[in-house]
Amino acid sequence: MSAVSDATVVEPNVLGLRCRECGREFEVAPIYTCEWCFGPLEVAYDYEAISRVTSRERIAAGPASLWRYADLLPVGSNPSVDLGTGLTPLVRADRLAAELGLGEVWIKNDTRNPTNSFKDRVVTIALSKALEFGFKVAACASTGNLANSVAAHAAHAGLRSYVFIPSNLEQGKVVTTSVYGGNVVAIEGNYDDVNRLCAELAGIYEWAFVNVNMRPFYAEGSKTLAFETAEQLGWQVPDHVVVPAASGSLLTKIQKGFQELHRVGLLDEEPNVRVSGAQALGCSPIATAYIEESDTIRPVKPDTIAKSLAIGNPADGYFALDAVRKSGGGFAAVTDGEIVDGMELLARTEGIFAETAGGVTIATLQKLASDGVIRADERVVVYITGHGLKTIEAVAQTSGPTATIPPSLDAFHAAFDIEDH
Ligand SMILES: [Zn+2]
Repeated sequence: MSAVSDATVVEPNVLGLRCRECGREFEVAPIYTCEWCFGPLEVAYDYEAISRVTSRERIAAGPASLWRYADLLPVGSNPSVDLGTGLTPLVRADRLAAELGLGEVWIKNDTRNPTNSFKDRVVTIALSKALEFGFKVAACASTGNLANSVAAHAAHAGLRSYVFIPSNLEQGKVVTTSVYGGNVVAIEGNYDDVNRLCAELAGIYEWAFVNVNMRPFYAEGSKTLAFETAEQLGWQVPDHVVVPAASGSLLTKIQKGFQELHRVGLLDEEPNVRVSGAQALGCSPIATAYIEESDTIRPVKPDTIAKSLAIGNPADGYFALDAVRKSGGGFAAVTDGEIVDGMELLARTEGIFAETAGGVTIATLQKLASDGVIRADERVVVYITGHGLKTIEAVAQTSGPTATIPPSLDAFHAAFDIEDH
């Protein structure tokens, strides 16, 4: 294993890192900003080389996890940190579609990952890469789900971990992080305060901060949501996707994922996927810019029950805004009440219990459907990114026993007037 100081790892499918603003290229290393223009770096692939080796058959013969797409990921084909993430169910949601007046709706159920959120996708890539670079400590700034995932994967890999979270997080997310035995640091502030502190710490400690110095690799994990969707639809793409937006990275990477599949010859036609974004009204800097037709994303102070989406200064906000506009999708922001209704609607119609972010996505689906942005003749895929048990407080007031009665037939009959025996 190489030391952190001379951490250069050669992957046959990767050309290097490329600045998303000015296009300058850099060697693969744990760096994340362009030294010329301070733009964010992303992984640049050799698509020619990938298209020569990859195929639908090769992918189908791969592992039943996101590692079946290793040709399109910036890690060698022998992943070091693997808890079995990915290949989550794509579920046809006819009862939900009927309630919303839509036609073909699918739920990509990413509550089914090892720590019950899509963040396992980005963390398994980031920490596998961190081991390649020779790091001994994993760290992150998190709104909760990332903390769960980093703590679990670090435990699995034998890495020490420092996970930084806002001190007002849901109990479920704190417990499901702390249980893995790493260091959990609760910061008296919001996510943007946590993130600022982590950027400072990243300059001092030689740690693998998954969403700071490992961010170019980490972000690539989100593409696998597009890869799986296309494979599960028989190598076709949806007409429209609805994606929750916090930093905006997930949304842009899902769109990039569909384009990459075409670029390496895995799709028959060029994908034309409309991408719509979902935010909570209490933290909607990207949705607000979209709705006001502005090019300026104004940072906000988050105030919403959808804490996993509570990023007031979104790092990839402009890229997400651009992706939605160019694809002809839409953006909506929904109230806390609508978020709870969305969680209950999905649970009641499809038997899937999503966290508050899922409530945001379902409420946005509903809003964009009633506005005519999402149409009944479209094949729609909705990304449900985290499990409801993580944010049980949101529905604790409205979800309880239908009746509490003494153990007698009389009491049951008094409580329930059942006609058909
Ligand atoms: Zn640059």
